[in-house]
Amino acid sequence: MRALIKSAAGPGHVEIAEMPVRSPGYDELLIKIKYCGVCGTDLHIAQDEFPNDPPVIMGHEYCGTIVEVGAAVQDRWSEGQRVVGELHTGACGQCELCQAGKPHICDAKLALGSRYDGAFAEYLTLPAWLAHPIPEGVPWEVAGVTEPFAIAAHCLVERGQVDHPRSILISGAATMGLMSTLWADRLGAEDIIVAGTDLDQDERFDLARAMGADRLVNVQHADLAEVVMDRTLGRGVDVWVEASGSAVAIASDLALVKKAGKLIMIGLTGPATVDLPWNTLLYREIDAYGCFSSPPSSWELALAAEVEEADRLRQLVTAILPLEAWEEGFEMLRRGQGVKILLDLEA
Ligand SMILES: [Zn+2]
Ligand SMILES: [Zn+2]
Repeated sequence: MRALIKSAAGPGHVEIAEMPVRSPGYDELLIKIKYCGVCGTDLHIAQDEFPNDPPVIMGHEYCGTIVEVGAAVQDRWSEGQRVVGELHTGACGQCELCQAGKPHICDAKLALGSRYDGAFAEYLTLPAWLAHPIPEGVPWEVAGVTEPFAIAAHCLVERGQVDHPRSILISGAATMGLMSTLWADRLGAEDIIVAGTDLDQDERFDLARAMGADRLVNVQHADLAEVVMDRTLGRGVDVWVEASGSAVAIASDLALVKKAGKLIMIGLTGPATVDLPWNTLLYREIDAYGCFSSPPSSWELALAAEVEEADRLRQLVTAILPLEAWEEGFEMLRRGQGVKILLDLEA
């Protein structure tokens, strides 16, 4: 089968190669992949800035159809079923975290697409416990964005327990910012302020509005603090979702959170250490929630919401390319062009 692989350590070494299809084990599924999304993590794997074990098939945001079912899981799964799947391959299932429903941060996890063969391929062999059926009526394009949508659900619903806030600030208007905006809208936020830059002005701000944003602020041309304080009567926002990973946003926006408000942290920063006004966190008694990846429970939330949100989520898929055009897809993402780019493995 054709697959996009990271063939060797070091920057680059990403190429399309002919790889064998692995027959499913007794508790595994063989999935014919329809779409697999290009993610920022893939760019980091390509540059060797994210842990990876080459040679490995890349890609971790996938949907497809089951074509073969292992002997031990035939009571639950059948050929022809449409599925999405988590990327928490290698999670042990035994440790305290796995037992608590958090295999996504298990020490043993070897994430699919970087340390375990992934889904930029015509077929994926997946441990069945990671699969979820796609609800009827959810189109492929929408199923293809389930993974980032589940992350946003984990951050806002499960970690931050956002519930009808009067005001919410979302810094960053790429995939995570836009999906957080959609969740904020679903969770009854009264005033959603989305902050972005010139990069977001043309396309993503329109999408942010479609996701439910009430006010868009281009921080390169407007004073975000002024806008926030004006709209919250000087109090600050109830919730700040940091989805940009920008050191500038992280250093300056904490002062815009009200006393006893919440900070939900999604965006990974480039450098491991950035400035955060620590005392502000204490003085204002702000609850801070670090968030990473997506436990199984968040996939259930995302899939249930996709039935209602298919129209809005479909708008976030801004390009669909054949596998052969992977470089173009990676380049579009690197340039910040569009939002979600899917590779079509059937094209
Ligand atoms: Zn991803
Ligand atoms: Zn574990």
